Amino acid sequence: TPAVAAVNIERTYDLGGVTVPALRGVSFTVERAAYVAIVGPSGSGKSTLMHLLGGLDRPTAGTLRIDGRDVAALTPAELAQLRNETIGFVFQSFHLLARTTALDNVALPLVYRGLNARERRARAREMLARVGLEHRVDHRPNQLSGGEQQRVAIARALVTEPTVLLADEPTGNLDTTTGLAVMELLERLNAESSAALVLVTHDREVAARAKRRIHMRDGVIEADEGGAA
Ligand code: ADP
Ligand code: ADP
Repeated sequence: TPAVAAVNIERTYDLGGVTVPALRGVSFTVERAAYVAIVGPSGSGKSTLMHLLGGLDRPTAGTLRIDGRDVAALTPAELAQLRNETIGFVFQSFHLLARTTALDNVALPLVYRGLNARERRARAREMLARVGLEHRVDHRPNQLSGGEQQRVAIARALVTEPTVLLADEPTGNLDTTTGLAVMELLERLNAESSAALVLVTHDREVAARAKRRIHMRDGVIEADEGGAA
């Protein structure tokens, strides 16, 4: 099963009677462990696509399978479960819980796994070690640098062993050197695990690192380079 299979997906928004087409028939497959960048100008449909891939929203037409499951066939509760079990998400601005330690931020997604607090913390500690933050487990976000906060966010996204890691401008709030280190970390974790890495970026150098680039324009895929179409 591919991580993602999209066949002719469309998403329109209704703006008070006016239909705005955000995605106009998009088809692609993301294999397990793939490394894909989604690029394109503002308004081309990247965020809409990321929302669909994140299970936050469903296509208005076409078929989207995430980890083999047709999102249109899922109830809202099943979609929420799919999000927790198969998708990890990393944001531009980290979105960590401010009053919570790095360890508890990373342990949080495991609450739905039937693990007790001790097991959750043990897994979170291992995951923080994998991102090089074993010495920061008891720090809160405001005691960490931007790069460290993003590494905590990456640990949180991967602690559940998702099928897809979605990253929306993961280097957007970081300086060049720190951003590069975060990309190298994402790439190492992508190589070590079966999680497909799908990122949106405006940074050409970041996009150039991916094995495949999907270029969006006006709600369609304009070019798909480096991977199978
Ligand atoms: P990008 O992320 O590439 O900037 P978006 O997916 O945000 O592109 O937007 C694609 C198109 O859909 C744009 O024309 C945008 O104005 C429109 N759009 C996005 N979100 C909404 C919304 N919630 N309501 C109405 N139109 C929207
Ligand atoms: P940032 O500035 O860090 O990108 P925002 O909250 O502005 O943070 O944007 C994050 C985007 O990701 C929002 O459009 C939000 O709706 C979306 N988002 C949040 N959670 C998920 C998820 N699990 N899957 C896909 N998209 C998500």
